[in-house]
Amino acid sequence: MGTQLAADVAIIGGGCAGLAAGVALSKAGIRVNLFESSHQLGGRARAIQWQSQTLDNGQHILLGAYSATLQLLETSGVNLDHALLRLPLELVMQDEFSLYASPHLPAPLHILAGLLQAQGLSFPERLAAVKLMVRLRLRNFALEQDMPLQVLLAGQPQRLISMLWEPLCLAALNTPLATASAQVFLNVLRDSFARAKSDSDMLLPRQDLSVLLADPAANYIQARGGNVSLNTAVERISQAGDKLYIHTQATSQQYSHIIVATSPFRVAPLLAEVPDAADSIERCHSLQYQPIYTVYLQYPTSTRLDRPMKGLSNRLGQWIFDRGLLYGQHGLMAVVISAEGRHQGLTQEQLATGVAQEIEQLYPQLQNPLWHKVIAEKRATFACTAKLQRPEQLTAIRGLLLAGDYVSSGSTLQDYPATIEGAVRSGFSAAENIINSL
Ligand SMILES: Cc1cc2nc3c(=O)[nH]c(=O)nc-3n(C[C@H](O)[C@H](O)[C@H](O)COP(=O)(O)OP(=O)(O)OC[C@H]3O[C@@H](n4cnc5c(N)ncnc54)[C@H](O)[C@@H]3O)c2cc1C
Repeated sequence: MGTQLAADVAIIGGGCAGLAAGVALSKAGIRVNLFESSHQLGGRARAIQWQSQTLDNGQHILLGAYSATLQLLETSGVNLDHALLRLPLELVMQDEFSLYASPHLPAPLHILAGLLQAQGLSFPERLAAVKLMVRLRLRNFALEQDMPLQVLLAGQPQRLISMLWEPLCLAALNTPLATASAQVFLNVLRDSFARAKSDSDMLLPRQDLSVLLADPAANYIQARGGNVSLNTAVERISQAGDKLYIHTQATSQQYSHIIVATSPFRVAPLLAEVPDAADSIERCHSLQYQPIYTVYLQYPTSTRLDRPMKGLSNRLGQWIFDRGLLYGQHGLMAVVISAEGRHQGLTQEQLATGVAQEIEQLYPQLQNPLWHKVIAEKRATFACTAKLQRPEQLTAIRGLLLAGDYVSSGSTLQDYPATIEGAVRSGFSAAENIINSL
């Protein structure tokens, strides 16, 4: 263990942001106290037990461009080759559309060639996609001002939008095209498509999210003298002069720095007694949310798809993952439905039945699931809308910082949607702010 630096840091929340902050501070020799209200870590990226199975609260996918996340995993000792299945970008939407990044060309030509050769689009449609990508690259994916993605895409053929841009927007921003931030979408395109070729790779977890992310990070923090307390909700933060206090049901403790790494809707009650926190509270309060549903369907163990992930177009379900191919959970499929939609008006039973029927039409080998489980995360992510005023990381109170997927990066050209990467970057930058202030 290295020399300990003089700071008493509390982290409230053991999701990706809080854990990333804890790992970065521990690495710098700063012991942290991390408080997690739930009985487990991981927040919105966690494993859950269902009957005898381990599921995830939602099927997650990572990208090669998730540099901060990969750094977090590596620092925590995760063997990336073992934990993640790395596949070159491919979008396969049933038999209607497919796009493969070219294996022979460097970035960004690998994507442009993939677009030009995409199956299921007419030549004018493919050309329109390429022209847009070239135009965006020429302006370095930066807009003079943000706008809804639908406005940016005006002029693109409708079929191209529904086969390519809309599924990408829902997968990346979990926000409908009509309101999604074009600039944040372009930030993701730039980072994934326009730099190194491996940035556009899809990284599919081969371990449940707790084994992949939360457990190694918590072990790292504890091995460097930090504390991770589960079942410990912080009830409020108070300030007396320049001193900050954390109050749980059992104790009140003073800290030099506090990182609030909860979901944004948990920030207001925590900061209610802190004078000068009004701006942070107000901005958190103004965020809106979008759901993600995951429908798990178990088929006989001999059932499998021909690839681990496939797109579904114009259906209730949007993506189907074969957890047999990924996790060895043979016959188990996870169907993901991002953002708001008609599925929200259905009961879980109706939704599972509807999704199973759709899948049976597409893949005759997938018939009569043995059981199903629907996980509805109603506030899965903040709505990543155009011109959103995100809460800043530094609050008006010295030593009190916010971290989370929703927190501003300080530049709209760097802002990410609600993703593991956004959360980890925010956690890292909170840690860096504290380290630099010492
Ligand atoms: C179904 C679903 C699918 C997703 N798919 C993807 C994907 O494919 N790829 C991707 O990159 N991202 C995906 N995401 C988004 C990603 O999971 C989140 O962006 C990320 O996990 C958010 O991390 P966070 O640390 O900011 O917040 P959270 O995970 O919400 O962490 C906050 C933590 O704070 C704790 N807490 C709250 N209040 C208190 C308190 N008072 N005291 C102590 N602790 C408290 C909570 O229990 C929680 O553990 C998905 C999310 C969902 C829900």
